[in-house]
Amino acid sequence: MNPIIGITSRQPVIKTSGGELEAHVVNKVYTDAVIRAGGTPITLPPVAPSEASRIVDRIDGLVLSGGGDIDPSFYGGKPHDDMYAIDPRRDEFEFALVREAQSRKLPVLAICRGLQVLNVALGGSLIEDIPSEIGSTDHSVRGPEVVNCHQTVKIEPDSLVAAAINNSEACVNSIHHQAVRQVAPGFRAAGWTSDGVVEVLDPDDHSWPILAVQWHPEYLAVEDDEASLALFAALVESANHQANITQ
Ligand code: MN
Repeated sequence: MNPIIGITSRQPVIKTSGGELEAHVVNKVYTDAVIRAGGTPITLPPVAPSEASRIVDRIDGLVLSGGGDIDPSFYGGKPHDDMYAIDPRRDEFEFALVREAQSRKLPVLAICRGLQVLNVALGGSLIEDIPSEIGSTDHSVRGPEVVNCHQTVKIEPDSLVAAAINNSEACVNSIHHQAVRQVAPGFRAAGWTSDGVVEVLDPDDHSWPILAVQWHPEYLAVEDDEASLALFAALVESANHQANITQ
């Protein structure tokens, strides 16, 4: 029996036999990584935030996936021309999932936008655009090379992410133009690139198994990156405990 891992979805318009329609999409690299780690993935389309509690009742672990930018009004931010795919309905659903996950200590792997959702849901804020504010253009590498690492992240050795990957350094990819500004209460920044961009968040309460990374381990896992496989393995292991599954 495998633990059920909910994965949040994005809502692009895709071509269908009925014409161009909105879809609920989870990139296959996420489901591949969850299955490879021993979990059973299910897609979570956005629904009313009031339903988050009952969804969390039925899953053993959660992947907060990547995607478009969070509506800046949720963190007192300013609109920026490079913001894209803003979807307040998705934001509010995922904020509710985070709060429910926190109250139940549900195992979570928060990836890219997912780390940002976690931070904003719990009271933190974001840098609206890294190139405009910090000048670094090294955080947005797209295309086939996303399966390869190009940035080094230094990680606090006593963080949950360092424990999961058994390392205080990771070579990572980077597909984001926003980053954590103010860290949410109950968390600390626990990993950075050399330009000071926050790449890891760590909970003060380590009894909540939440791993939060700004990079994309689901892509690096395609090339068998050990640290990335270890992050998904740690999520599934915690989800097994959550579900009282003994292997
Ligand atoms: Mn980065």
